[in-house]
Amino acid sequence: MHPFAYVAPTSLEEAAALLTQHGPEAKVLAGGQSLIPILNYRLARPGVVIDIGGLPLDGAREVDGRLHLGALTRHAELEESALVARACPLLREAARLVGNVRVRALGTLGGSLAHADPAAELPMAVLALDARVTAASTRGTRTLAAADLFSGYLTTALAADEILTEIDVPVTHGAGVAVEEQSRRAGDFAVVAVAAVVTIDRRGRVDDARLAYAGVGATPVRATAAEDALRGHEPVAERLARAVELARAAIEPPSDAFVSAAYRKLLIGVLTRRALTRAVAGAMAVA
Ligand code: FAD
Repeated sequence: MHPFAYVAPTSLEEAAALLTQHGPEAKVLAGGQSLIPILNYRLARPGVVIDIGGLPLDGAREVDGRLHLGALTRHAELEESALVARACPLLREAARLVGNVRVRALGTLGGSLAHADPAAELPMAVLALDARVTAASTRGTRTLAAADLFSGYLTTALAADEILTEIDVPVTHGAGVAVEEQSRRAGDFAVVAVAAVVTIDRRGRVDDARLAYAGVGATPVRATAAEDALRGHEPVAERLARAVELARAAIEPPSDAFVSAAYRKLLIGVLTRRALTRAVAGAMAVA
């Protein structure tokens, strides 16, 4: 590891001031589950590591139909919290698939979003949920849509001096949700993953449908044509098959050292069908 100074601020203001003071020389440390391996491999050589782990940026609360989660909410808390299970079960499903139990005990929601691995489950889930994220710096705070956060491979719209402080998502009572993924070994990053959120109206038609994907490009993506093809229609098998086809047609995944683009396309079809079938069944059960 390249030598660096370590600081553990005790307030958000202090952390923001340190980031401003050290500029691009500084790196924020949350759960360390991505940053520490990066430092070990010397893929980053920060002069200063600012450990925000002691800041009061954890916990979940429901306010006016939105679930607010501190950036330091651990993946394990997303899995285990009764509030998250009730208000936004997609986050629980997504968190369960992250790495292994040790990674989930330490890794944080904010860290996963800031790291922006395109194969990661939580960025995909917050994109499906139309989440908002709040970032703070010495210049003030701002809120941006998850759709505007992920700007490229391991890259976000966060400025170097900004700290992600909170993520909020609409409460999805009554929605059917599913995350399906294929990975090479249990606990690995997904080769392809899909998150589905479906609500059904009183007439038995799809009121809203969201489909987001990981592992298919430089950022997580939505399949909006497939979503549009579902809204307003009964979720019969032919309609779901049409949505699956539209999702497959819209996404052009890459090949890499492990799998071909053609295999990823195949997975998009299989996993979308599975996720939609399960999300529709869940939504029907509460409609
Ligand atoms: P850190 O490692 O502390 O930080 C990651 C990056 O985000 C750094 O650049 C840091 O500066 C920045 N950052 C962190 N918090 C903030 C903040 N609040 N504001 C601004 N910037 C911030 N992830 C998956 O999604 N799926 C997997 O299957 C998976 N498998 C894994 C398996 C192993 C063995 C390991 C070690 C990790 C795996 N991960 C996986 C990564 C894991 O989910 C990380 O926890 C997550 O990517 C980063 O969260 P963290 O809190 O550990 O962030």
